[in-house]
Amino acid sequence: MPHGKPSPMPRRLLARVRDVMAGAGMAQQRLDGITNIIAADMVAEVCSVYVRRAGDMLELFATQGLQPSAVHSTRLRVGEGIVGDIAARARPLALADAQKHPSFVFRPETGEEIYHSMLGVPILRDGRVVGVLAVQNRTQRRYGEEEVETLQTVAMVLAELVVGELIGRDELRPVIGGAMAPLCLQGMRLGSGVGAGEAVLHRPRFHITRWVADDPAAEHERLARAISEMHGALDEMFQASELAGGGEHRDVLQAYRMIAEDAGWLERIDEAISSGLTAEAAVEKVHNDIRARMSQVTDPYLRERIHDLDDLANRLLGHLIGEAEPTAGMPLPEEVILVARSMGPAQLLDYDYSRLRGVVLEEGSHTAHVAIVARALDIPAIGNVKDALGKVEPGDPLIVDGDNAQVFIRPGEDARRAFVESLRAREERKAVYASLRDLPAVTLDGQSISIKINAGLPIDLRLLDDSGADGIGLYRTELLFMVAADFPGVEVQRRLYADVLDKAADKPVIFRTLDVGGDKVLPYWQRSAEENPAMGWRAIRASLDRPDMLRQQLRALIRAAASRELRLMFPMIAEVAEFKAARAWLDKELKWEKELGFPPPSKFSVGAMLEVPSLVLQLPALLKQVDFISVGSNDLFQFLFASDRGNPQLSERYDLLSPLVLTLLRSVVEQCRTAGTPVSLCGDMASRPLEAMALIGAGFRDLSVTPSSVGPIKAMIRSLSVLALCEYMNSLYDLDQHDTRQKLGSFAQEHGVII
Ligand code: PEP
Ligand code: MG
Repeated sequence: MPHGKPSPMPRRLLARVRDVMAGAGMAQQRLDGITNIIAADMVAEVCSVYVRRAGDMLELFATQGLQPSAVHSTRLRVGEGIVGDIAARARPLALADAQKHPSFVFRPETGEEIYHSMLGVPILRDGRVVGVLAVQNRTQRRYGEEEVETLQTVAMVLAELVVGELIGRDELRPVIGGAMAPLCLQGMRLGSGVGAGEAVLHRPRFHITRWVADDPAAEHERLARAISEMHGALDEMFQASELAGGGEHRDVLQAYRMIAEDAGWLERIDEAISSGLTAEAAVEKVHNDIRARMSQVTDPYLRERIHDLDDLANRLLGHLIGEAEPTAGMPLPEEVILVARSMGPAQLLDYDYSRLRGVVLEEGSHTAHVAIVARALDIPAIGNVKDALGKVEPGDPLIVDGDNAQVFIRPGEDARRAFVESLRAREERKAVYASLRDLPAVTLDGQSISIKINAGLPIDLRLLDDSGADGIGLYRTELLFMVAADFPGVEVQRRLYADVLDKAADKPVIFRTLDVGGDKVLPYWQRSAEENPAMGWRAIRASLDRPDMLRQQLRALIRAAASRELRLMFPMIAEVAEFKAARAWLDKELKWEKELGFPPPSKFSVGAMLEVPSLVLQLPALLKQVDFISVGSNDLFQFLFASDRGNPQLSERYDLLSPLVLTLLRSVVEQCRTAGTPVSLCGDMASRPLEAMALIGAGFRDLSVTPSSVGPIKAMIRSLSVLALCEYMNSLYDLDQHDTRQKLGSFAQEHGVII
């Protein structure tokens, strides 16, 4: 149904609302008129409009049916009562008996006790709730989906009156105490480094003036034209963009492009046009609806996709309204810190990035496409900064500290000095690490340590060379699956893996087969909710139960290696039988691929990740089966201590430098050594110099770390004497203590180890 269902009811109502809005009279009078029209049209005894005021209050601004004296007197906090609940959740509520709802609060001055049913919808503008529109009936009426939809459409049009005329835009800005005082806000690290510059606020840039359409057919046509223009413009931009050149960001941009072509999104816009909105109002409405719904979603990956959608909706509006986007060609300060609620990757590319010194997002997480692009451009970026847009004024001086996930707003002299100092120290450190790039990672007493990197995105490959690492000790293949819009097929995977091997040249790469589940969610893979997903149906468990997925991946890996060496490992193995089963699939695929005429890898080695404590107890049997093992300390110790690795409340509860952990790791290394099986460690602990030192003391000679840690770890290794460390650590294993952190720190200090 390309153009949605024609719905005369909302169209008629919308046209009447539009006429009143555009008519003469004070805004308040027009609002009163509109509540009358809505009540009559929807056969409701009450229609009320609540408007959001400063301080997160909702004020009754107009009503048909409630006591007139309550207007401008009844106020509810956002979150208080049913109206407050609708505003807080940005979702409609249709209740046959509102008084039985747990959020119901009784306001005697409104006289609403006689009304039982209630339908309320948020009034949204730019994804923010600016009010609530509600109808009520005496009977216990059940409002249908169409009525909800109609009221939402009317609320969309009403938002214009609310924000444009009833209250000033400024009132919606959260109030801050001591407005011009320096501030420091904490966020989440998206891209490392520090940068200073002037704040440029990145805001939705289109102003819609026509909301209600007279001729829906013409609006459908306008939309179709705008969509095709947008696709053309996107293609051009991606081709011209720096990032497209090396093909490194194809996946990110491709996923973005797929959203632009998403049939569901475009169909919903068509439906909104059929209900009486103009094409631009329809884009805005569908976008607001999606944003409001997504704000309830907790899954970080899905939440991030909304940023791409923000960007696309804005672009589509640009093509519809026909104004040039003000940022293109807008005079920018020499040094810019961009502040935005969220952005898509292409929006970031719209700015002259030679001037970009930092990015601050109110939303955003590590999986955001914009974060991936910011890292690719080496721009410090932080996300999840609460209310950044409310606290920053355009032109404010800002300092972004990506490493500590902080932004300093209007920094004082101390913060400026600290910035200059940290910039200098950072440059110095970088220079030291760069000078180590081609030097071997050998200890003072001649022990050679292999430092590899953990990778998963095409951009990481550049870092393999830049860092001078020995190879990729862990290639997390699931990241490709997470940024794709659908299961990547064999050929798509083959190309990516072959590209990794090509770029790594003669350096070894260990691919880990798909580790999804837990916190790694694929948006296109429907799975039933699990109470304990980290310990649930994930990684090798899902791969063995759904072997088609594993087989496709193995096939792609075999073809990608084509006459080269293939190294792969299986995640979350909990018993030897699982490894054998996965290995059997590999053998089968190898045989079939050979029969099909694909050249087999010249050599292959197959390993297991040691991430589940049960496997530690089966090491003697496991080591007979595997070519190598890699310790995934992130998972191994979350399961050993029964302590969620993602819970910040527990992050310091147990220490990986406890005698228990060190003893366990030493035993693993010793067993591997006896069996002649190579062992490495690729969990995050290897990326921290003190922990890496302890790992070397416990016997590890092969570490896989985050790319930015290669320099610091190499510096530590080159200042260490393993013999002295091992001797010292012998006194630690049997200690009855929480941790050995201080002791190891003192050892490093006394022996001049750089940590
Ligand atoms: C680990 O668990 O230590 C590991 C390297 O795997 P991931 O962090 O991807 O779960
Ligand atoms: Mg793991």
